[in-house]
Amino acid sequence: MSGFREAVIDLEAIRSNVRHLSALVGTPHVMAVVKANGYGHGAVPVAVAALQGGADWLGVADIEEALELRDAGISAPILAWLHDPDADFHSAVSDDVDLGISSARQLQQAADAALELGLTAAVHLKLDTGLSRNGIPECDWAEVMALAAEHERAGRLSVRGIFSHLSNASADDDAESLERFERGLEAARRAGLTPALVHLAASAAALRLPAARYSMVRLGIAVYGLSPFDDESSAQLGLIPAMTLRGRVAAVRRVAAGAGVSYDHLWRAPVDSTLALVPLGYADGIPRQASGLARVGLRDDTHPVVGRIAMDQFVVSVGQAEVTVGDDVVLFGDPSTGVPSASDWALAAQTINYDIVTRIGRRVPRRHINA
Ligand SMILES: *Cc1c(COP(=O)(O)O)cnc(C)c1O
Repeated sequence: MSGFREAVIDLEAIRSNVRHLSALVGTPHVMAVVKANGYGHGAVPVAVAALQGGADWLGVADIEEALELRDAGISAPILAWLHDPDADFHSAVSDDVDLGISSARQLQQAADAALELGLTAAVHLKLDTGLSRNGIPECDWAEVMALAAEHERAGRLSVRGIFSHLSNASADDDAESLERFERGLEAARRAGLTPALVHLAASAAALRLPAARYSMVRLGIAVYGLSPFDDESSAQLGLIPAMTLRGRVAAVRRVAAGAGVSYDHLWRAPVDSTLALVPLGYADGIPRQASGLARVGLRDDTHPVVGRIAMDQFVVSVGQAEVTVGDDVVLFGDPSTGVPSASDWALAAQTINYDIVTRIGRRVPRRHINA
């Protein structure tokens, strides 16, 4: 029987999305990005499914996330790129986790850890090409690359990759970043570095900017079957949303016209109406901003969320339709089945689909199907 509240994750959708995307981009390597608990889908099962679908690299933000994958027995190459200033790189180096390097300091920390362990640290130099976040700024490229080459000659480091990340601000901004990235590759050649992997594109650029594909793309949102674009849907991209967020109707009540619903009586029934109580709230990651704006799937139809979304629950008005306690209610899933999508919820909450799936809370069990 299906649970009270749960996120059902279709691992065949993950495999199918990765297969489809890999064929589409045609790069020698494909990284599936499984940071933030696999965008809320469960990092380990998603990583396994993505590898089955043809990805050959995994990407995460923190080293801890990489170690969770290693602890689960995953031996595929993993890159982690966001580090605590006092990060202990030893566990990463000894567990064969590649490090994204954004400063001379991090490079030195990696080299020190490798020296102490008697191992070689595999690193990917991350260049800032216009995002102004944590890559190496252009003014430091020559210095960091020279240092990297020196450590490489000494056997402490292997510069396995050079990468950057795009702003997706506009076609012009991305073109400028691409130019800057090319300058970075040239600087690396001058420094005597010969990285096997050159990677720039995340999902959006992988799909729309072939020049950014290089030898590997880093696919996040698209792996989960969601579109990175406002103007193109999952289905148009050939992707299948992997997460269905659902629950069971916990209570049903018939109210008279004028009855106020939920906190602050944000909504009053305009006519006699049947209400269904859905046992998920903002503690579960349901955006409170979507109060009165989102819809849910119930008995082959969709119905509006009415009144404030509370911490544990919210109310749906089904009007004059039939509904019973225990009915299946779908907040979002694959829209080709007639239910709302994560993107519909994003629109209602004035955010992006990434935010909708990654914010699903701990109280919502993940049930993985088609493993
Ligand atoms: C999160 C992330 C990605 C994946 O981005 P999507 O838009 O989800 O494909 C790729 N690269 C880096 C550096 C990231 O932080």
